[in-house]
Parts: sequence; C-alpha cells; structure tokens
Amino acid sequence: MGNMKLLTKLLRLKGAKITCFEFKNRDKELHVGIKPHKNGCRCQKCGRRCQIVRIVDKRSWTDVTILGLKIVFWYAPKEVHCPTHGSAQEEIPWAAPLSRVTYRLEYIICSLARIMTQKAAADILKMPTSTLSDILHRVITRVRVGHRIRGLVTLGVDEISYCKGRKFATIVYDLDRSCVLWVGKGKGRDTIDRFFNEELSEYQRLKITWASSDMSRAYTEAIKYHCPNAKLVIDRFHLVKALNEAVDEVRKEEWRNLDVEGRKAIKGLRWLLGMGPTSRSKEHTRFLNSLRKSNRRIHRAWVLKDEFDHFWSYSYLGSAEAFLKRWMTAALKSRIPSMRTFVGTLKAHYENIITFIERPLTNAVGEGINRVLKIVKNRASGFRNLENFTDIIFLTKGDLDIVAQIPAGLRSI
Ligand SMILES: [Zn+2]
Repeated sequence: MGNMKLLTKLLRLKGAKITCFEFKNRDKELHVGIKPHKNGCRCQKCGRRCQIVRIVDKRSWTDVTILGLKIVFWYAPKEVHCPTHGSAQEEIPWAAPLSRVTYRLEYIICSLARIMTQKAAADILKMPTSTLSDILHRVITRVRVGHRIRGLVTLGVDEISYCKGRKFATIVYDLDRSCVLWVGKGKGRDTIDRFFNEELSEYQRLKITWASSDMSRAYTEAIKYHCPNAKLVIDRFHLVKALNEAVDEVRKEEWRNLDVEGRKAIKGLRWLLGMGPTSRSKEHTRFLNSLRKSNRRIHRAWVLKDEFDHFWSYSYLGSAEAFLKRWMTAALKSRIPSMRTFVGTLKAHYENIITFIERPLTNAVGEGINRVLKIVKNRASGFRNLENFTDIIFLTKGDLDIVAQIPAGLRSI
C-alpha cells in the first residue's frame, strides 16, 4: 500500500483524495493536500457537474486533532458555472461553503458543547473558547437557516433570565414535542408579537388549539389575539409561585412587627411555608399547626395555601369551579391584604385557570425544558449575550437536531 492510500485510510476520507502531505511545526501538524473525488467541479446547490470558470486561491481547513496531531487540509477550490445557479465555488465534500473547519470538526464541537461548557470543550479540542463559540454559532445559524416550524398544536410561552438574571428573553415551546421553537430578546408584547408575525403563517396560528403561559398580560393578550382557536391555560407553577409569595408577604409583615423572641419562634419558616403538603414531614406539619396559637395570621395564610393545592387534582369542571369560588370567599374573609391581591389575580385570569381541569397543561411538561435550560445556564455560569445562550438552547433542546444535520460523509473518527 502506498503512503497516500494508507493516509487516506487512516484519515478515513470518503469522497476526497490525498495528493501530498507534509509534517510542519515540529511534527505537531500534518498538512495534507486534498482534492474532491472524481475531480469535483460540482455545483454546491444541486450537485450537477459544471464548467470551470477559474481556480480560486489555495485555502486551508482545520480538521480534527488525532493523538495531538493537528490535521490541516489544503486545496484550491474551483469556481464553476451552473446553468441554474450561476457562478459559485464548487462543492467540497469535507466542509460547508465558507467554513474554515471540516464537517467532522463541526460535528465534534457540537456534540461536546451539548454535554459540557464551551470552555471545557475548547480545552479538549485545544482551541480558544472564543473560536469554538464562533464556530458553534456559525454552524447553528447555517443549519437553522430556512428552517420552518411544523405541526405546532400546543404552544408554551415563558420568560427566562440570562446574564446573571438581569436580562430577560421570551422563549416559545412546542409542548407536545417538548422542545424550544424560538427565543427572542425582551419579555414584552413586541417580542411575542415578533414570534407570531415572523415565524408562523396565519394557517399555523389558527392550528394552535392549546397554549400555556404565565400571567403576564403581554403573553396572554398576544396569544388571544394571534391564536383565536387556542385555549389558554395559566402555567401552574407560576400561579403556585404567586400564592407562595403572597404567603411569604404575610410572614415578612409579621417578622417586621415582632420582637427578638417572637422572631426566633418563626425562624426558618420561609422555607417550610413554601413546601407542598406531600413533601412535608409529620413534624413539619405539627409545627405549622402549632402556629394556630402562636401566630394566627401566618397560620391562616398557610392553611389557605395548603387548601388551594386541592384545585389541581379536580377532574370535573363544575366541582373545580365550586371549589375555587369557595376558596376565594375564604381568602377574602381572611382579611390578609396579600391574599386578597392573589384573589384579584385569580379573578383576572379565572377563565384561563379553570381550563387546567380540562387539560392539565404546564410549561414544565415533558422533560422539564426549563430545568434543562437552568442546568445549561448554570454550567456556563450565565451567558453574556443572548446569541450565545440561544445557541446552546437550540443545541440542547431545539426543534431541530443540529448534530444530525451535519453531513455524515467525513464524520467518522
Ligand atoms: Zn446548480
């Protein structure tokens, strides 16, 4: 077997042929002259064999590093003339047009970035993190260009914070397939309007029959406006969070009014009040019940909160509505301001809360997308810009499998 043939086999090159090779930089780099099989000259859009217009300058592509040896490809691409697509650079089987790295390096970068931080991936691949981020961004943009949302029936809208919690983005899910469809800067009406106007056709908007969002007016009104056929369900976890905050408000008020001794008695209560009835131990419940004597207001708020939990288990609309009305009356009677405010919230969103009984839809459906995103975010300890964050969202939870879209030809390594 000749050297060239051996090297072609070692590098697992399919659709390409090695013409020459040379070790450089104290044997740390292997520079390989390469050319497409059957002399190339194919249009990169339709694959048709075309006439050569001219030969462009020699270019290089960075390939993977094997056992510490960096592989670099060299080739002078031809400019060809396709009768349909006009003049363009010929198709190159090992890399995407305008890309400076090979498909298989792109594949490895994407696969690693899916499971670890970009810094860790960059360390393994021995390249600067910024270079890796750039490549990642270019690959994801290239793969997603022209991608359209399909078969959307159940929509979820939520806000997510990035950049150390100071900035917000709107994130749109397909709750049936539990994946992310779209990410946009901001959390206002203009952001969500942009999604409906730019990403969906009128037909697609009419096809949406269920939607879930938090209580933000921007989201609920946009869904009502753009998806007239959709039934809106207020996300359970946002509602529970609002109730927990109302209870905590009572605790804070009491805390402010108590002396040192009194404060000691309700220490650690914040965490306990936030717990659901199922996750509490008997001892916790006993302690909370003892508040009935020591702090009536907190006890009252807690009982109301605990009772509200029943709402989620109803399966008949009529009984759920009767329960909710009873609960609201009891909460109003408690004369606790924060509880009354919560009743106001319930009343304002009543028709979209009661729909939960018909379909228990929450944004946390499926694999808990938000949880995954939080892990991703923590792993990178906050993203500086949304672009960077969006890249990782699409890579890990997008509606399009980015890695699978990278051509298989030269991938095997
Ligand atoms: Zn063509």
